[in-house]
Amino acid sequence: FTSTELTKAWLERIKAEDSKYNSYITVTEEEALAQAKAADEAFAAGTAGPFTGLPIAHKDLFCTQGVRTSCASKMLDNFISPYDGTMVAKFKQAGAVMLGKTNMDEFAMGGSNESSYYGPARNPWDTDRVPGGSSGGSGAAVAARLAPAATGSDTGGSIRQPAALCGITGLKPTYGRVSRYGMVAFASSLDQIGPMAHTAEDCALMLNVMAGFDPMDSTSVDREVPDYTVTLNEPLTGLKIGLPKEYFTDTLDPQVAKKVRNAVAEFEKMGATVKEVSLPRTELSIPAYYIIAPAEASSNLSRFDGVRYGYRCEDPKDLEDMYKRSRGEGFGEEVKRRIMVGTYALCAGYYDAYYNKAQQIRRLIQQDFAKVLEEVDVIMAPTTPHPAFKLGEKNNDPVSMYMEDIYTLSLNLAGLPGMSVPCGLVNGLPVGLQIIGDHFAEAKLLNVAHQFQ
Ligand code: GLN
Repeated sequence: FTSTELTKAWLERIKAEDSKYNSYITVTEEEALAQAKAADEAFAAGTAGPFTGLPIAHKDLFCTQGVRTSCASKMLDNFISPYDGTMVAKFKQAGAVMLGKTNMDEFAMGGSNESSYYGPARNPWDTDRVPGGSSGGSGAAVAARLAPAATGSDTGGSIRQPAALCGITGLKPTYGRVSRYGMVAFASSLDQIGPMAHTAEDCALMLNVMAGFDPMDSTSVDREVPDYTVTLNEPLTGLKIGLPKEYFTDTLDPQVAKKVRNAVAEFEKMGATVKEVSLPRTELSIPAYYIIAPAEASSNLSRFDGVRYGYRCEDPKDLEDMYKRSRGEGFGEEVKRRIMVGTYALCAGYYDAYYNKAQQIRRLIQQDFAKVLEEVDVIMAPTTPHPAFKLGEKNNDPVSMYMEDIYTLSLNLAGLPGMSVPCGLVNGLPVGLQIIGDHFAEAKLLNVAHQFQ
């Protein structure tokens, strides 16, 4: 069948089903059908590439020309980007068809999708539960078969955690592997873009399109992009796996621990060896991250002032009133909390006590990983301490929500790549195995994940 037929089928599924999951903020029917038509023409002309005509959904913090990019915020409810971000442009050039923009936590701040201005996305396995966040819409859309694949961003787990809770595969690449140009910044030293799909193979195909140096992002790394699909089938004999003992403590649901250990046993059967390792500062990743991320966010979000774009309050009295009310009315609770924490941490007088300390911890966490990764090829761990929790369960208790990030944050602080792959069900809900590797070891991670699937 044609790409147009395929695209229509996906759009119809979204129309029929998404009221249950709220996984999309915007469905781009017109654009999708135009791109599908172009794809059909490319097939007819013999110029189709590996992504031509394949539908995909983008998280709603990636700028898409002519299409609203809301960041799930009232602040950007009316924002139509004048340009495509690099990752979006690369998929366009590769011939992919954009189905729409997916739901998320407001400005990617959260782990449950409940901070979205458009209401939470829901977990397709149990719609009373959260899909995770912040890329919860991408996770839910892929899990509910409302998109074959989607993009996400991961500042402190926002690809891996929803992938785990929705039972799909997600990859957070090494910091700098994918250009962030045209991604609305949350915490620039932690943000990374990556693929979310059913399999490692699909993630590899997507990373082939996404990865690479971009002069528009000075932190993107100028390093060759391998074909991530060619090493997927390499045997795992002799693979050295490390299990960090700090990830298997009381915080971890014993049933989740069991699924992770069963998964590790499968790798042993494939010829891998396993040993216990130690990442002693794991616990410190939460306080360090929740200083650094809000600090950077408070700076990044200062651009939303009601002047240049986005929400502006009605009838401002003067400039000051406009700033205050535009920001006060445009941002939600969690975003305001982060801006306040971040601004405080960066204040003269408190800077050394909080921000500098957090940066020192960050360095120690990096060193811990570097030491362990000299001894093992990959680290395996749970992605989350529990399966998906109920909507509303943690929403009024930010600290308990932050605690759920215990296994994902430290990778972002260290800039390392990590994947989450489904490793079974606990009480009918999916849980994820996290696979962590050294900088630029994406091909290895995808290989390991593929052998498991
Ligand atoms: N849950 C984390 C937070 O709230 C991670 C967010 C993210 O990775 N974008 O900050």
